[in-house]
Amino acid sequence: MITKFIKRILRRDPMVKHTHTNSTNAPKRIPKKSHRIDPDLLSKNAVKVTHTLQQAGYEAFIVGGAVRDLALGISPKDFDVATNATPEQVQRLFRKARLIGRRFQIVHVTFFGKGHPEIIEVSTFRALLDNAGDHVAESGRILRDNVWGSQGEDAARRDFTINAMYYDPSSETVLDYHGGMADMQKKTLRMIGDPAKRYREDPVRMLRAIRFAAKTGFSLDSATGAPIAKLGKLLQDVPSARLFDEILKLLMSGYSWAAIQGLKDAGLHHGLLPLLDHILDDSEASKGANSFVKLALANTDQRIQSGKSVSAGFLFATLLWPDLLKNWKANSAKGMANIPALHDAMDDTIATQSSGMTIQRRFESDMREIWSMQPRFERRVGRYPYRLIESPRFRAGYDFMLLRCATGELSPAIGQWWTDFIAADPTGQDELMASVKNESGNSPSPAKRRRRRKPKSALPPESAAS
Ligand code: ATP
Ligand code: MG
Repeated sequence: MITKFIKRILRRDPMVKHTHTNSTNAPKRIPKKSHRIDPDLLSKNAVKVTHTLQQAGYEAFIVGGAVRDLALGISPKDFDVATNATPEQVQRLFRKARLIGRRFQIVHVTFFGKGHPEIIEVSTFRALLDNAGDHVAESGRILRDNVWGSQGEDAARRDFTINAMYYDPSSETVLDYHGGMADMQKKTLRMIGDPAKRYREDPVRMLRAIRFAAKTGFSLDSATGAPIAKLGKLLQDVPSARLFDEILKLLMSGYSWAAIQGLKDAGLHHGLLPLLDHILDDSEASKGANSFVKLALANTDQRIQSGKSVSAGFLFATLLWPDLLKNWKANSAKGMANIPALHDAMDDTIATQSSGMTIQRRFESDMREIWSMQPRFERRVGRYPYRLIESPRFRAGYDFMLLRCATGELSPAIGQWWTDFIAADPTGQDELMASVKNESGNSPSPAKRRRRRKPKSALPPESAAS
């Protein structure tokens, strides 16, 4: 009985030691009639999680980006839950719950239903740490003892006011600690606390500012925007993997083109990410490259906005393609044969990119596959096309080839031929093969070209980037 009572008290207040309490204020309670969040946009599983936690006597809210998106009337892509239960306490309540992370433990609660499994990320309210680095440098135990905090502290350590709102699905109330709802109405992105200090603590917040501005169409509050010009260089010290995650989120936001323009306007691209330097270079020589990348990004944005999936490997393959073409051509000019010239160029392109921000290996192999497939689309002889469509990554390679056609780098007739070839039955495919043989005049068939070609003059396809 006594242990039960103690547990109950602990549940109410699981935070162990507070490092800070003074910088938090009472939240504004916003009722449904003011926030107008549509309960139909909620994930049933997220509601299950908050409900289960609340039934067990804990506080639990949907939090962060999901509340921001709900208040904007858009369907959130994922749901995070914040609670005063510790990760162990959370884990005990759910069948499929996994503890993730060492420094800051969170719990992934997985739900299986129709389609993809849904993961609800549950985190315990975290304390404000003045010098997080010092705490981390000390023993893990001290860190763990200090890390949990009150809801107010949890709100204060978030980045923007619109990302620091808590929604309780059972009462349909939003708890707003930093005036997020007012900023939503003003269409303003405002950093919580002193912006310069917050950027110094975590320079990635500058990239996040640009990403959210692009996604919401909101403007950066002037105090939030001002320090970026001076502090942008701090991004150089951010570990490559962290930078990669954030850039990937930016590119996958559904507003990548706007976000990249935002980076440029904020002066955040130069010298940090070679990949972005290329894209944002306005020179005449880069026009072709820009049009390819712009089209690829517009395509990606459209897919994401209509709820389709986008492969990161595909996306990076498009972003680095202009650079790859340049290297490929240079190799060919040096007398390398076409295919070795391409493979050597792929290595160079990836190496240059890695000097700024390493692309994860799993994406790198996708990129290589997509790239090395490209010359094969021009090889419409013998059994080659029949074999190409059987390769597991054919679809990605084909979509990539269509982009090249759309910018005129490759003849659109080739793209159309492949589109017809995929749709055709075996007889139709044979007819299409025969039609290539009969193609006359300006473009000799690849077979003929191959026979005539001396290795020295083997050039990569004419590129719009040239
Ligand atoms: P998205 O819809 O793109 O996922 P999000 O707001 O959910 O946007 P996440 O990166 O998933 O962004 O982060 C979830 C929440 O965690 C944010 O809304 C914010 O409250 C907090 N957060 C994330 N990264 C930071 C950071 N670097 N500094 C402070 N708070 C952060
Ligand atoms: Mg999120």
